[in-house]
Amino acid sequence: MAGGNERSIKALKEVWRRAENSFCADCGKPDPDWASSTLGVFICLSCSGIHRNIPSISKVKSLKMDHWDDAQVQFLANHGNAVTKATYEAHIPIYYYQPNYSDCQVLREQWIRAKYERKEFTELGKQLPYHDGVKEGILWKRGRDNGQFLPRKFLLSEREGCLKYFTKQDAKEPKINIKIDVINATFQPVKIGNPNGLQITYLKDNKTRNIFVYHESGK
Ligand SMILES: [Zn+2]
Repeated sequence: MAGGNERSIKALKEVWRRAENSFCADCGKPDPDWASSTLGVFICLSCSGIHRNIPSISKVKSLKMDHWDDAQVQFLANHGNAVTKATYEAHIPIYYYQPNYSDCQVLREQWIRAKYERKEFTELGKQLPYHDGVKEGILWKRGRDNGQFLPRKFLLSEREGCLKYFTKQDAKEPKINIKIDVINATFQPVKIGNPNGLQITYLKDNKTRNIFVYHESGK
């Protein structure tokens, strides 16, 4: 704690030691040693890297190496993981998958941005476009040519009765848009090499097409 005075170091340790702050606010990893001085959350090193990508929302500092002044320590004391969670995670849809520390960076970044940057869960109904029987999530899809798995946004719409997926995170038009009633999905852990592997088969132009996907959690 270079340069810090003893009183603020002591106060910082007291806040840090609270049970609510002993797990990363974003992925649940034990013993976080970073914190956001603007959001007031205690986070792990890995999630602090994601926070650093959204500097307009979050300023991260090491709890061990950086100096925290009295006002910043007071801010952490007034916020902390429990209070901040009550605000930013107030209304998470039941189908929303909350990543943990074993999940990949892509999933965690999506979660962190949804939570703090887009504030999707602060108010009831903010997720309205998705509420209408629509499930959205990231699945790892095998590329047709090189066989490599890449994360892709998938959308399942009950109202429209179709499954769509997008090659780009912010794409407006889906790469495919298939009617659910022509889809056949089977679990194929061996074929795909993942316990949560799924083969989606559908008909297009009278030809059978296959998509191979998996999700890390199996949800
Ligand atoms: Zn974390």
